[in-house]
Amino acid sequence: MALLEGKNILVTGVLTEASIAFHIARLAQEEGANVVLTSFGRTMKITQAIARRLPSAAPVVELDVSDPEHFEALAGRVGEHVDRLDGLVHSIGFAPKGAFDFLGASWEDVAPALNISAFSLKGLAAASLPLMSPGGAVVGLTLDAEFAWPGYDWMGVAKAALESTNRYLARDLGPQGIRCNLVAAGPISTTAANHIPAFKQFEKWGEHAPLGWDISDPTPAAKACAALLSDWFPATTGEIVHVDGGYHATGY
Ligand code: NAD
Repeated sequence: MALLEGKNILVTGVLTEASIAFHIARLAQEEGANVVLTSFGRTMKITQAIARRLPSAAPVVELDVSDPEHFEALAGRVGEHVDRLDGLVHSIGFAPKGAFDFLGASWEDVAPALNISAFSLKGLAAASLPLMSPGGAVVGLTLDAEFAWPGYDWMGVAKAALESTNRYLARDLGPQGIRCNLVAAGPISTTAANHIPAFKQFEKWGEHAPLGWDISDPTPAAKACAALLSDWFPATTGEIVHVDGGYHATGY
């Protein structure tokens, strides 16, 4: 049986073919899942076009995680395509330019970063709850927030909040049989990554990662997400799985 046979999975964050979420959706379909995507605003049309490049074209429902009304409507919109959800992927990150200047950032720069990149994990999980089946999984993506990375600044603080949100979600959804885990991916060249002014500094990652690292390859991170969505991690929740070539375990 394929890894995700018969599962219905909601995947946020498909923007381009480079998006980590595109590869999660692709692998999920290859492993037998039925996938529904989300997108928002002007990017809806782009996501709809990219959705047709998946092994089988996936429907796209609207979700702007900064709009509480979109969360209220989410279960209804997703319910037009599937009768239940077995998995949910949070692959969303955004921070205004000013948030990448740690000492100079204003609250106006920081608030959207925290809202869209961290608080939205709670919003997405809570809004999907009416459709989520026991045994279901929530999976999100972080960049290891244990360290103060060069140039990552308030996005790093948002990732620390995301990681904490994951643990609290695991606490509150565990009794309903729902697991919540994150993948701490190494750097991958995507739209969000290229929005980070100092992303170039991450390009040496592969020199220090014991297994090496290819910043143009989102598949290792996507595979880990697919595994966490599957039934093969039945007793794992509140966890962060590093998919970074082993960089986190070294002294660099
Ligand atoms: P990406 O740009 O392809 O995806 C980011 C997504 O966030 C886009 O689809 C965008 O539409 C969506 N988004 C932004 N604001 C939104 C909003 N208000 N409502 C709904 N969606 C919104 O980039 P990516 O690198 O694939 O990012 C996916 C996730 O992976 C992010 O959480 C990112 O921080 C994380 N991550 C990325 C890297 C990397 O180096 N690329 C490393 C570790 C973790």
